[in-house]
Amino acid sequence: MAVFDEIEALFADRGDAAYFGEAVTQTEHALQTAYLAEGDGAPPTLVVAALLHDIGHLLHRAGEDIAERGIDTRHERIGARWLARHFGTAVSEPVRLHVAAKRYLCGIEPHYVERLSAASIQSLELQGGPMRPGEARQFERQDDWQAAVRLRRWDEEAKVIGLRVPDLEHYRAIIETLALQEPSQPRAFRRP
Ligand code: FE
Repeated sequence: MAVFDEIEALFADRGDAAYFGEAVTQTEHALQTAYLAEGDGAPPTLVVAALLHDIGHLLHRAGEDIAERGIDTRHERIGARWLARHFGTAVSEPVRLHVAAKRYLCGIEPHYVERLSAASIQSLELQGGPMRPGEARQFERQDDWQAAVRLRRWDEEAKVIGLRVPDLEHYRAIIETLALQEPSQPRAFRRP
């Protein structure tokens, strides 16, 4: 199956699920994140990363109340591994790092935590809490850390009830352009 069709099928199958602790669905959240990225002048790779940053939630079969049950699904790794098979690292790496970017922003900006949803605050603890200064400096040595931080800020805003944004079809051309003809070997995944 072509990658766009696979993505479309994942959203059709699982996209109507609620986005954790918010009144928007996974599909609405994904489309809003991509819309914010486009509006901010992000390159096409980062627009696709924004659109697909939570695809890990559509790929795994855990329930929606998973953080409440004290389980970190590592959806960023599940998603990034899948993306690395279909796109270059400019798409998969910001996705892999988008949870670390939340911990980073909470570590360096004292008020950042106020922007998080209740569910995101809950998962923050499971994910390791705000980064300490040493961890933050290490994070800044990752290749795509700045792209991950940009993505994270759109992620936080992308939960507006009833916002009208372009649909998935709008992204077909860039997804098809960026899709790898040959699947690449996924990178070795390490903890950021
Ligand atoms: Fe998100």
